Amino acid sequence: MIQLVRGFKDILPDEIQTWKHIEKRAVAILEAFGFREIRLPLLEKTELFKRSIGEYTDIVEKEMYTFPGSREELLTLRPEATASVVRAYIQQHMYAVDPVQKLFTIGPMFRKERPQKGRYRQFYQINAEVFGIASPLIDAQLIVMLWALFQQLEVAGLTVHINSLGCPKCRPAFKQALSDMLQANAGDLCADCQRRMRTNPLRVLDCKVPSCRKVIVNAPSMVDFLCEDCARHFNTVTSSLEKQKVPYILNHRLVRGLDYYCRTAFEIQTTELGAQNAVAGGGRYDGLVEILGGPSQPAIGFAIGLDRLADLLKQSKPQKESVPDVFIACIGETAQQQAFTWSCTLSLSGIKTEIDFTGKSLKALMKRADRLSARFVLIAGDQELKDGSVVVRNMETKEQMPVPIEEMLDHIQQILATAS
Ligand code: AMP
Repeated sequence: MIQLVRGFKDILPDEIQTWKHIEKRAVAILEAFGFREIRLPLLEKTELFKRSIGEYTDIVEKEMYTFPGSREELLTLRPEATASVVRAYIQQHMYAVDPVQKLFTIGPMFRKERPQKGRYRQFYQINAEVFGIASPLIDAQLIVMLWALFQQLEVAGLTVHINSLGCPKCRPAFKQALSDMLQANAGDLCADCQRRMRTNPLRVLDCKVPSCRKVIVNAPSMVDFLCEDCARHFNTVTSSLEKQKVPYILNHRLVRGLDYYCRTAFEIQTTELGAQNAVAGGGRYDGLVEILGGPSQPAIGFAIGLDRLADLLKQSKPQKESVPDVFIACIGETAQQQAFTWSCTLSLSGIKTEIDFTGKSLKALMKRADRLSARFVLIAGDQELKDGSVVVRNMETKEQMPVPIEEMLDHIQQILATAS
């Protein structure tokens, strides 16, 4: 038997209720905050991710699914959505219509990471991006919105972690101080961090290796290096969160894995999922639109990890699958023909209907109706058809009554309306 690819997974119908519940709530709150949906291709030119995420990041160095396309071009299955949304914002001239755009997209991402619980090679994200707003109030608003969504979904054990990564004006001094400190402790760093120390020292702050973590404890904090503008921006974000009563932790080690972030960076972390503790993350990326060939426009966004959120909700609040309103149990060839028409009529009227065409005994059919938790069963055999009627059984009260065939649809609609 051919198995699925390692690190990939099937999302089965039993889990879909939870996924749909999350997506429905997320879309409702995003739309209430003025976001519009955008759908983008899963495949982009490799260059897009190299230029945006950064050459010296884990994603670009080792995690992308890349293959040759036509001509000399390399293509990549998107490892994240921001770069694609920025590309569309520029390529479709959305900025020319209105530089302020609030966009969201839902779909799969692909990263060749080492698979483990909560970490997959195809995973799903809900992404939201805002273009054209430099005010720190939008940073705070995104976090307020995220927090409200998680409250509505009743996810427990979450905390907001927030940091400022500074800007091209103030970050170099911090980078230098960090670099000096890392050089002085190079002997205690893992092989990866010895390399990162030279290529991208900020990434060392992300490292989970215990010996690196010990070194990081004494690392300088970006907040001590913020220029006046960045400090003011960060203060407004945190004080606005306080105004909206969103609890947060200042986390000076939070750098996030991508190069394009500046100023506000945040993550929503959980205590419930072991090592893979981030359920959502985001930040400001003011320079990226310009780097990718567009006008100079500020931007900020976040991504929610749907797989992890669904895992959390499955543990705490499993969603019930909706049950059939009606199950049609028909016995005999003629009854089956007739029941086929009824099932079409009922389903087309919006009534959730199940029918069994296998020609099983009435006992077996009733057992199946029970297993599906059907609310009502229509029982039709050749005798009932001769009488021009069908038996309707209420599976809760066990009451049965014959109903003339021509009144069946009205009758079912009526009892469903009364029952709900
Ligand atoms: P990132 O784009 O790395 O900031 O990720 C944003 C969110 O996507 C994270 O907070 C996770 O919830 C989720 N995520 C990232 N990578 C994976 C993965 N490999 N498997 C499952 N979820 C992921």
